[in-house]
Amino acid sequence: MKNYIVIYFLLIIGNVVAQTNLTENLYRSYEFFKEHSITGRTVKHGEVEKLIGGLKNNGKFNVKELGKSLEGRTIYLVSIGNGPVNVLAWSQMHGDEPTATQALFDIFNFFSDENQFAELKKYMLSKLTLHFIPMLNPDGAERFTRRNALSIDLNRDAARNQFPEAQILKSVRDSLNPQFGFNLHDQNSRYSAGNSHRTATISFLAPAYNYEKDINDVRKNTMSVIVRLTSELNKIIPGHIARYNDDFEPRAFGDNFVKWGTSSVLIESGGWANDPDKQFIRKLNFIALIDAFNIIASEDYKCVDYTKYFAIPENDKLIFNLLLRNLSVSFNGKKYIVDISVNREEQFDNHAGKIYYKGIIDDLGDLSIFYGNEEIDCKGMEIFPGKTFPEIFETVEELKSSDIPGLLRQGYTSVKIKNIELHKKFTDIPLNIVSANKNIDHGLTVENNANFFVKENGEIRFIIVNGFLIDLKTNSGQITNALVFE
Ligand SMILES: [Zn+2]
Repeated sequence: MKNYIVIYFLLIIGNVVAQTNLTENLYRSYEFFKEHSITGRTVKHGEVEKLIGGLKNNGKFNVKELGKSLEGRTIYLVSIGNGPVNVLAWSQMHGDEPTATQALFDIFNFFSDENQFAELKKYMLSKLTLHFIPMLNPDGAERFTRRNALSIDLNRDAARNQFPEAQILKSVRDSLNPQFGFNLHDQNSRYSAGNSHRTATISFLAPAYNYEKDINDVRKNTMSVIVRLTSELNKIIPGHIARYNDDFEPRAFGDNFVKWGTSSVLIESGGWANDPDKQFIRKLNFIALIDAFNIIASEDYKCVDYTKYFAIPENDKLIFNLLLRNLSVSFNGKKYIVDISVNREEQFDNHAGKIYYKGIIDDLGDLSIFYGNEEIDCKGMEIFPGKTFPEIFETVEELKSSDIPGLLRQGYTSVKIKNIELHKKFTDIPLNIVSANKNIDHGLTVENNANFFVKENGEIRFIIVNGFLIDLKTNSGQITNALVFE
């Protein structure tokens, strides 16, 4: 009996040594491991390939070419460790979801490093063999689209398994038979953690493997890892962690991984205030994955009450990018009170190779059950459609040298220009640019481009151009980009 107690005590000590303050330590040391060559909202295959080249020359990693995408881009498997438990993480199955791909390269730097966390890494790599597919959908990444080159959502091709990218993932799973999987995605910044104004910064899912949503050991272990990860991440982003809808999707990979015997954790990178490029959320991915490897290596998940999974708030879509409440609007001499919500949709300009935003009026009316990333109570204020400046500018240069803040103060949200540069879809100038022979509709209607202003006591207080708001009283706010209408 005594021996058992001693052994049990040693096991606990072992776990404690491996885990004490790991989350905090990773948080503090992250910058040291960050792969600075990839950043922002787009990661292309060329960038991945360049970094993979470095890993090939690094004796610690085993790099394998798994096959090619529809358009012939190579998909890689990077492995490290020699433990008996296989873990497989894959990113960017959806081409416009690059946050975790960046985090995987931070993790490779973490394992390349010789000095920091040496004991922990030795321990984890003796228990686990870690396998990574950074960027499963390189053709989608090239276009910044969710889907592959044939416009197929690869996460609906697990069952039929026709497309090369999906076949690669399935065959890696079958050959490694990993005990744990990490299915790494992005969701937009408008999801909330439960019925709250808090964004769902990280959302987890323990996918179901049947319509009944039964819980077998494979799914139970997924839930247990998520429960542990939630308590770790709550140290950094309390209240910003959510649980994704677990309706069974027979065509999705996560659901099928669980069916095939791999405890598969879905991680969605959502939104965080003032982090449009999701670089803070990338850091959270780095921390969450290393925490997860530690939780699996130490078998810490086995001591967890998996039912706590259901206490994580649900991933709800209750947030708009901008929500103005209690505005007064006039129609035929009568006044009505409305709320207005605006979302800024990410667009990819192929020609410029850049992300820009398109601000859309999402809804009008009683929006009292919703929240905004940015929210203003406009009680007593009146809303009006934006205006096009009546004179035509010859060139963009002429516009640039004019009094742009003065135009905004008068409620102008668009200007006309005779000679617009071809192929431009957006502009850094805080006014929409319209070609001389074109007119754009500034109507305050749902799905229209969001250009309007708000008056307080007869003066323009807020001007909204392409969904971005400037407070003219405090001179705060920024119009990241306006649109070009050729
Ligand atoms: Zn996705």
